[in-house]
Amino acid sequence: MRIRDLYDSPNPTISFEFFPPKNDEAEAVLFRDTVPGLKQLKPAFISVTYGAGGSTRDTTTRIVQRIREQHGTESMPHLTCVGSTQGMLGNFLDEILKLGFENVLALRGDPPKDQPTFQAVEGGFSYATDLIRFIRGRSQISIGAACYPEGHVEARFKHADWDIAAQKVEAGAEFLITQLFYDWSDFLDMEDYLRNKRNIKVPIVPGILPFLNAAQIKRFTSLCGSKLPSPIRKKIEQFAEDDESVRKLGVEVCTELCAKLMPRVAGFHFYCLNRVPSSAEVLRNLGLA
Ligand SMILES: Cc1cc2nc3c(=O)[nH]c(=O)nc-3n(C[C@H](O)[C@H](O)[C@H](O)COP(=O)(O)OP(=O)(O)OC[C@H]3O[C@@H](n4cnc5c(N)ncnc54)[C@H](O)[C@@H]3O)c2cc1C
Repeated sequence: MRIRDLYDSPNPTISFEFFPPKNDEAEAVLFRDTVPGLKQLKPAFISVTYGAGGSTRDTTTRIVQRIREQHGTESMPHLTCVGSTQGMLGNFLDEILKLGFENVLALRGDPPKDQPTFQAVEGGFSYATDLIRFIRGRSQISIGAACYPEGHVEARFKHADWDIAAQKVEAGAEFLITQLFYDWSDFLDMEDYLRNKRNIKVPIVPGILPFLNAAQIKRFTSLCGSKLPSPIRKKIEQFAEDDESVRKLGVEVCTELCAKLMPRVAGFHFYCLNRVPSSAEVLRNLGLA
């Protein structure tokens, strides 16, 4: 099913994002505990990330296939430009089309750890928009793309980055999923700009990360350049090493964020980090589980 169409549902369309498990044991746990646990929440779809430099290419494909075929849940692979020529990207696309996938999330990807800035490989793409155009030129698959309520970390001006989000839609993206954020006014500002200044009509879906511990959320926000509003930061610092209190705070913060956004968005995409409990709690609090 095309994900764009899933967002036409009268109820919020709930999705989850997994990263490919690091080894066979982690994959076994994912399919024994996590996926069945998530299924009870009736997600509309599950997406699976694409690791640095295409390193998880085969695992990403295998995991999305297993989710769809063994668990009957719609699934979507991510695809990035990192380390790939157009030929390699075309091969991945042909492979997922052959397997019957109807959706792909098209991204540039982050530079590998040893590269300070993103460098396209020869014959590859520098920007997600180029990848989106390439995919659209070859197939009618439903394409999703990323957008950034606070502007992408490398962008000098957030409005310039929101223009890029609009260009992704003009190039063929049918839905946008946001980077994590905790201040709902950032989402409203970006949404207002895209809808009213750029006439963007596709679903703009908040990416929600119920954080699990203090070190993790500090690392994520510093990597992606999202801010932690000061009241949340202060509470996290207060709880320090008390992971369970930080986790509960994550649930509380995300419940409040989603409750404010719910009347205006088509769904929520949970960065669940391959763990169900916090996302499930948020959904229960919202009456969506
Ligand atoms: C929902 C979601 C899922 C993600 N999944 C993955 C994943 O599976 N694997 C992974 O490695 N990463 C993933 N990421 C992270 C993402 O790859 C990084 O944020 C990356 O740095 C940017 O990717 P992008 O697709 O937004 O790039 P782009 O849209 O290409 O933007 C990258 C930077 O270039 C600028 N830019 C874009 N086009 C132009 C242009 N034409 N001229 C000048 N500047 C331009 C933008 O403003 C931005 O600063 C995900 C992010 C999100 C929000």
